[in-house]
Amino acid sequence: MFPALKKVLSTFLICATCCSAGQIPGDDFLADQVASFTSVRYAVLRSPRSLKSDPIENELDRLGNRGQLIARARSSVLAILATENSCTAWYRQSEPVPSEIFRSLHFVVDISGNEEIFKREGTSGELEYLQPYVAHSRQEVGSGSEIMLNANGAFFKQYARVRYSITPPNSYTNQLVRFLVVGDFPGDTAQARILTLLHEFAHVVGLIPADSGTQSAAFLSVQNTKTVLKNCKLQIELEAKQTREVPQRFLSAATAHHQQSHFFAPMRGSSAIPPRQ
Ligand SMILES: [Zn+2]
Repeated sequence: MFPALKKVLSTFLICATCCSAGQIPGDDFLADQVASFTSVRYAVLRSPRSLKSDPIENELDRLGNRGQLIARARSSVLAILATENSCTAWYRQSEPVPSEIFRSLHFVVDISGNEEIFKREGTSGELEYLQPYVAHSRQEVGSGSEIMLNANGAFFKQYARVRYSITPPNSYTNQLVRFLVVGDFPGDTAQARILTLLHEFAHVVGLIPADSGTQSAAFLSVQNTKTVLKNCKLQIELEAKQTREVPQRFLSAATAHHQQSHFFAPMRGSSAIPPRQ
């Protein structure tokens, strides 16, 4: 349908820090989730005492449903880093105990983050799609630093509206929408969320170079995501399977939206966690 559509990049927007309010999940919620948890996650989420002793968990409780999704992805990353595997070994090149650093990181949700895919013509004439950014973190800031997540990016959302660069502001072409992705994974899936956190954590400990500020940085961000996948893809998929967060919702949405608009097309090609500010 769009033979010239080849590239999927990311945006360079500056984020406004803002947090949403929400409720604290009860013991029933935790008990319901226990069956699908690994032993590490079980230890983190099962014990009320552990919850109270983890200030980051308490912070995420206050972010409502989004906080629950972050907490689940965070537990998956902690489970990965608690065992010996290729992913842990890669992070250990920078930090002897990477799980300790990751456990100390704070999370902020940017509820006013960009929510559109920006379509434009590249320098060689091909069409490019720039996704709304997924997450921010700072380079080599280490323990206690912050990861910001776009409430409208692929960490939380499956698809976004497309805006064409030559149209006037607030004007949209046929209400076209496209799927959001993170690396190889559809947006709003456990895999996309775990990969996002691992990508940002790699910035925090200086394992991948900064990928912000310029157009070429978008391509570097794609490369950085590939580097994370090279070391951690197996663990990401195993952990996502453990959470039983099957991307059925994604597939259902794909069918529904395909029926609504013939302009809709699944996203092809590579994607990126966006350049960070
Ligand atoms: Zn990056």
